[in-house]
Amino acid sequence: MSILGSTTIRAEGVIARCKTLASFSEDAGSIRRTFLSPSMRDCHREITKWLAAAGAEVTVDAAGNLRGFYAAAQSAAQSAAPRLLLGSHLDTVPNAGAYDGILGVVIAIALLESLERRLPFAIEVVGFSEEEGVRFGLPFIGSRALVGTLDEELLNRQDTNGISVRDAIKDFGLNPADISCAVLSEDTLAYLEFHIEQGPVLESIGRSLGAVDAIAAQTRMTFEFLGRTNHAGTTPMHLRHDAIAAAAEWILAVERTAQNHPGLVATVGQIEAKPGATNVIAAEARVTLDVRHKSNDIRDGAVDALVRQAHEIADRRGLTVRQNVLLSQRAVAMNPFLVDQIQEAIRSTGCQPHRMTSGAGHDAMILAEKVPAAMIFLRSPGGISHDPAESVEVEDVAKALDCGLHLLEKLANSSELQKRMCRA
Ligand SMILES: [Zn+2]
Repeated sequence: MSILGSTTIRAEGVIARCKTLASFSEDAGSIRRTFLSPSMRDCHREITKWLAAAGAEVTVDAAGNLRGFYAAAQSAAQSAAPRLLLGSHLDTVPNAGAYDGILGVVIAIALLESLERRLPFAIEVVGFSEEEGVRFGLPFIGSRALVGTLDEELLNRQDTNGISVRDAIKDFGLNPADISCAVLSEDTLAYLEFHIEQGPVLESIGRSLGAVDAIAAQTRMTFEFLGRTNHAGTTPMHLRHDAIAAAAEWILAVERTAQNHPGLVATVGQIEAKPGATNVIAAEARVTLDVRHKSNDIRDGAVDALVRQAHEIADRRGLTVRQNVLLSQRAVAMNPFLVDQIQEAIRSTGCQPHRMTSGAGHDAMILAEKVPAAMIFLRSPGGISHDPAESVEVEDVAKALDCGLHLLEKLANSSELQKRMCRA
């Protein structure tokens, strides 16, 4: 059988496994798998079978991350052999698709199965227990444990049933006292994550795979425009202090600002007005703002400009405005050396690589605090994600497998590359 043919069969196998894992859900008829839920245990059991058959030693750390260790070649001084991490997350949002997160773990397992030999470095496949933040309203519980930032405050956080992260860990049969053992070992070379793009960019340019060079900086804010309520029939237009009209003018300024800066995205996703009646001029309009860019400076500059414009609009209309920052997250650069290697590996599959920024947060962003990290995006048909219609093309999964194998082989054949990764 041709190499191409066998890769396509493996890719079909990857998709079939994602569908199998999608059947482990807390909800009947749709996919929902949150942190250490009973369906997560079923998911672990299934993945453990595949990992063990591929020759990996499987454990679950105290934060509930599934970890499959595929040892280095005997000839390499095993105790000194570094390890490369491959993985993504196993949890989902409610009413999820079958590929967000899971695909990266299943691709990592398929790469082990394709290797047919041990490499000079070990490979650790990680299925993170929690990335989406659904159960406890705070994301990245799994990857935080690996970088040592799963702290007391987080362990005490409760879900809507009053169960803390700590209790959820105990209920799953794990020991919260062992969380420090989940921390990345000193011998970790790098972290690589395959993930669906969850957006329309790769599809719009007809590319299968993208090399992620950064995870965008993100600011989330609220703005309250405060005017004066009055009668909609008796108040002439020039004597109004209409909070909704002021907010509307500013919302269009938000859209224009983003359109004028390449790579900037800005969104007003929510608007609430008071008192909220057809025949009453609104006294209050509360709107949210979400601004993202791969450059902290450009993000900061855009946020400053939008705050200024909100005040100018409010002043001109005789209103006041107050703003509040909910979240300010700095951009995280992916490791430049790894990104170059990924681009080259994508090219080796016969595809043109596309270098891109991830607008969404991922486990790679947390791992990047401690080790060189990078991501490979697979085209999302229709740009759809966090929805049952989420999908992936067999052809793109096959390219991802080829790209991953190329990367692993190249790394295995070059001790210089391995040294550079450690230094990078
Ligand atoms: Zn994800």
